[in-house]
Amino acid sequence: MPVAAASPRAAYVHVPFCRHRCGYCDFAVVAGRDDLVDRYLAALRRELDRLPAPLDLDTLYVGGGTPSHLGAEGLRRLWGAFAGRLVPLAGAEVTIEANPADVDRGLVAAAVECGVNRVSLGAQSLSAVTLAALDRDHSPDQVRRAVDLLRGAGLAVNLDVMTAAPGQTLAAVGQDLDDFLALAPQHLSVYCLTWERGTRFIGLLNRGMLQRAEEDLERRMFEGAIDRLEAGGFEHYEVSNFALPGHRCRHNEGYWDCRPWEAFGPGAARFDGRTRITNHRSPFTWMRRIDAGLDPAADHDRMTAEGAARERIVVGLRRRDGIVRGAFRAATGFQIDELVGGELREWVDNGWAVDDGLRIGLTRSGLLLSDSLWEEVLGGGHEGGGKG
Ligand code: SF4
Repeated sequence: MPVAAASPRAAYVHVPFCRHRCGYCDFAVVAGRDDLVDRYLAALRRELDRLPAPLDLDTLYVGGGTPSHLGAEGLRRLWGAFAGRLVPLAGAEVTIEANPADVDRGLVAAAVECGVNRVSLGAQSLSAVTLAALDRDHSPDQVRRAVDLLRGAGLAVNLDVMTAAPGQTLAAVGQDLDDFLALAPQHLSVYCLTWERGTRFIGLLNRGMLQRAEEDLERRMFEGAIDRLEAGGFEHYEVSNFALPGHRCRHNEGYWDCRPWEAFGPGAARFDGRTRITNHRSPFTWMRRIDAGLDPAADHDRMTAEGAARERIVVGLRRRDGIVRGAFRAATGFQIDELVGGELREWVDNGWAVDDGLRIGLTRSGLLLSDSLWEEVLGGGHEGGGKG
């Protein structure tokens, strides 16, 4: 029998404000609308009030958007909304995302006061040329200064790194990674630029004003990143994530273990072990519904038991630890081979996976291909959504 879902020990809070919308971004954000902060905080408080009891947390992740855009005072007010509702336990991992341009002594002091112990910086690059190509509004010096301030205050630092920016060369990515390593963060997340519908970048691409990196170059950039970061002592523990020993992101590990989590704010998705409930993406719709006493959820996606098991295969194989057959059976009630035995054999034959009978994991070439493997794994498995 599958193990019953425990109550959530993790929470995500979405702060939708940014100073400027980057050309590639399709997240649920509003730029240049700081006049909405008071209304957002009031709505968030009301959404948190829907909790039947205070939530004791092992991890709390405040993302966005740009939580640091709230500034020191705004951060304190945000934590005021959490008080008595979201309760990080002793030893909990508490992360906020920050724009390097926002990080000053005041913000760092407020973060420490609130109990934040990890900051994820949207650094993306340490090259002024690449930052401009990515339409970012911060400078390399601001990244360096932010890391100094955060480390000086004893906070763990993740740096988000973007590759395959328009015009970026393989050598430029290598230089960026060496420069990031010199800053001695505990964690790095490396993403390849994606071109999303509805963004300014995709419009420019379609009009021939921006060029997308060739697939082969994207792959070589990513392989180069793995080599450099592993040589620098980082463990490549998930497709996009690298950590010094003992510094994996515990919050994300909870997602990948398919543990339940709570989520609040526009576009935030919570998960109870079988159903993913996603709030309205538009901050305006989310606030309007909460103000009117309505459910802010836009979508309920209930997975079948098999669908949940298949999803566990995808998130499990994205991790270098892979999937342990016995643990998979205990968690889902399914043997992994009855779901994807044929695919696994094919992946092992192609050199994309290794299988020692107990544990299955992707090889480096499997990880590089992984996004194209998942469609065959996921199949159906959803009982259907409900709009709410
Ligand atoms: S700072 Fe992040 S969330 Fe805000 S617009 Fe840029 S990419 Fe999007």
